[in-house]
Amino acid sequence: MGLLSLGTPLDWHEAKQYNEHVRDNGITQLINIFKQHSKTRLNDKFYWGDEVEYMLVDINDDSKTARLSIDKDYILDDLNDPEKPESYNKAIENDVSFHPEYGRFMIEATPLKPYNGDFICDYIYVEKNMIKRRKISESELPSNIKPLTLTSFPRMGCEIFTSPNAKPIGPASQSLFLPDEIINRHARFPTLTANIRKRRGHKVAINLPIYPDVNTKLLDDSIPKNRDYFNSDLEPWIGASKPGFVYMDSMGFGMGSSCLQITVQAKDISQARYLYDSLAPLTPIMLSLSAAAPIFKGFLVDQDVRWNVISGAVDDRTFIERDEEPYPGYDFFGGLDVEEEVKDHMNNLGGGKGINGDRIINEFGDTNLKINKLTKPIQKIPKSRYESIDNYLSDEHYKFNDKKSYFNEIYNDIYSPINEKIYNRLIESKLFDPILAKHFAHLFIRDPLVIFNERINQDNELSNDHFENIQSTNWQTLRFKPPALYPDGENLSEKPGWRVEFRPMEIQLTDFENAAYSNFITLVSKAILKYNPNYYIPISKIDNNMKIAHKVDSVLKDKFWFKNPKLWNLKNSDFIGYDLTWFDRFINQGNDELINDKVYLNGYFEDPLNIEVEEETPDVGNSDENESKLTVNEIINGNNIFPGLIKMIIKLIATDLIPDTLKDNNHCNLNELAGDLLTLQQYLKLISYRASGKIPTIANWLRNQVLQSPLYNQDSKVSDELNYELIKKSQIISDLDFNHPELLESYFGKSLASFLKSRQAPTINGISNGH
Ligand code: ADP
Ligand code: MG
Ligand code: MG
Ligand code: MG
Ligand code: MG
Ligand code: MG
Repeated sequence: MGLLSLGTPLDWHEAKQYNEHVRDNGITQLINIFKQHSKTRLNDKFYWGDEVEYMLVDINDDSKTARLSIDKDYILDDLNDPEKPESYNKAIENDVSFHPEYGRFMIEATPLKPYNGDFICDYIYVEKNMIKRRKISESELPSNIKPLTLTSFPRMGCEIFTSPNAKPIGPASQSLFLPDEIINRHARFPTLTANIRKRRGHKVAINLPIYPDVNTKLLDDSIPKNRDYFNSDLEPWIGASKPGFVYMDSMGFGMGSSCLQITVQAKDISQARYLYDSLAPLTPIMLSLSAAAPIFKGFLVDQDVRWNVISGAVDDRTFIERDEEPYPGYDFFGGLDVEEEVKDHMNNLGGGKGINGDRIINEFGDTNLKINKLTKPIQKIPKSRYESIDNYLSDEHYKFNDKKSYFNEIYNDIYSPINEKIYNRLIESKLFDPILAKHFAHLFIRDPLVIFNERINQDNELSNDHFENIQSTNWQTLRFKPPALYPDGENLSEKPGWRVEFRPMEIQLTDFENAAYSNFITLVSKAILKYNPNYYIPISKIDNNMKIAHKVDSVLKDKFWFKNPKLWNLKNSDFIGYDLTWFDRFINQGNDELINDKVYLNGYFEDPLNIEVEEETPDVGNSDENESKLTVNEIINGNNIFPGLIKMIIKLIATDLIPDTLKDNNHCNLNELAGDLLTLQQYLKLISYRASGKIPTIANWLRNQVLQSPLYNQDSKVSDELNYELIKKSQIISDLDFNHPELLESYFGKSLASFLKSRQAPTINGISNGH
């Protein structure tokens, strides 16, 4: 499909009469999806894919400025328009696909088709594909505009930060800082922005702690005091902004940041549920390990990641749903349909404050009906739509390798409101067990944010739009993606099946790193499905870890709740020898031996070293305890008592991927196998070194670039000139421009820098030019 299907998006106040209609039909569509797929798709292939988001940055070396380019969004239309074959074919022939994103200065790109995952070269192809995406978008842009993979643009929301310049006076966001011109022109996006604000009843408000330095005034002095365009202009002064914090008031601060997402396909729904659950405890760990966002709105902030920014930026909950006192003069209910009489009653009662439990309306007996004439009950909702997951899906139906169920209902320990009507329908359909029904019934507490007039009535046997309307505006750390609906007679095995999307990670500056993180998550997923570890801990502990992952240098300075390694159900002795040096020993055997079938048949791969198994000296806390606190380094690299994730991956490479690659020698070029393995080793090295602190996270590196710059005044401010300097450095890193060897070494460390310098540039021979 090309770009977004266009239509007329309805304003919140018009749209809300259809909210229940969208939910009702969306759930009918979901039930139909389960009818079509849950029992029939039992052996889908392991496919996977990544999504990379770019910012188009206008870099002017004469004026020493770097600005977000907001007038080059035509490239997305060109690259998706078959009638512009010069652009369109370039994308198709190079196996890449470009998608719109929230910002007009943004693009998203993915592979055109999902990747395979059975063989070594599948994991090498990713970076080549990413390089092509960047090259193709560059070829469509003027030479001063660069597609950079920055998580947050340092001076977004400062006085002049766009090219061309635009003023923050837009009716969609009403932002004091961000012009509406930064929002994607497709009608969906300004409507989304406005509807979040209208439902909530006030602007979103994000407050980040300012990084304290010797000359720092703990004050966001960028908030205009006397602006009088919108009533909302006063909000920062009546409760929305907090002293000592950087204040942001618009969806663009979050949805205008970039991230890296990975989707993997499981063989069936039960496997997908176990994979989802097993990846859940890794979400905060990977957020910490990919940290890349220490600067917002021209301030160094006292945190390292974008997550809470984007969470706040799309938070459409009213005061009553957040269980907060309204600003003076505002009511509890925002844009919800509540009759005046009921409003008065509840406002007098302080919005039902102090009531525990989910359904505030219970307090009000008959008046419920009035509140809920058009909509569902008003509930207290602890989390934004963009947040960590609320529930595990349970592994109870997953019996791979005779594994017993690890899941226990006590792990779903947080208060997670559900839409009861939806829950009951799912249970009545008999296609959902209570845990899965609860998962979807939780997603369906939300209202649709954008409804297209032309799409109100749909064929629920063929369309999943209403379901996706709710599903895809629940932006959680993981997304459980069901298949779509297809007409009878289609070959379903060719269509996407049950997938899990991993969503917490920040985007990295180079394709090398993005390929490394993508491969890491994919290989961890495969390793989880092979070795079946038990990583369940209570969801509340994962939420706690999400907070920790925001902290400055959490990767090195903090410990995270994790399953007690004694309960992982993995034997350390099974993984000894499979560390990063395994590749060196293996590759040194020589290419000839590598491609000699006998090698793997003789079990060479099973025991590469003949290492003596060390006596286990377990000391990981009390084995009665379900959880322990581990460093990211321990989780990733393991220690001499328990295997880390990397060892699981390397054993998988050694015992599955290499043998399978050798067996099916049509797929990969075996002459390139040793080189491919060396590259895979470097990907894992990057992750391993970041986890152990041998090399910095991007957040750490960027913060240091600011702190050490002569342009910095120790006041936590990032000036326009300093912004330019940071962007130039980011561009050097992104281009792997070895005219600046010291900068590259400060970022990658000596070992990886020397690999990147000396390696053959990935053999893509340029991009196919579309003829
Ligand atoms: P969304 O934005 O909804 O997450 P995208 O289409 O942008 O979806 O990206 C989805 C990712 O999933 C892409 O990398 C794509 O290659 C990948 N993908 C597509 N089909 C499959 C599949 N059957 N199994 C696994 N991954 C898939
Ligand atoms: Mg996408
Ligand atoms: Mg995206
Ligand atoms: Mg391949
Ligand atoms: Mg995605
Ligand atoms: Mg999408």
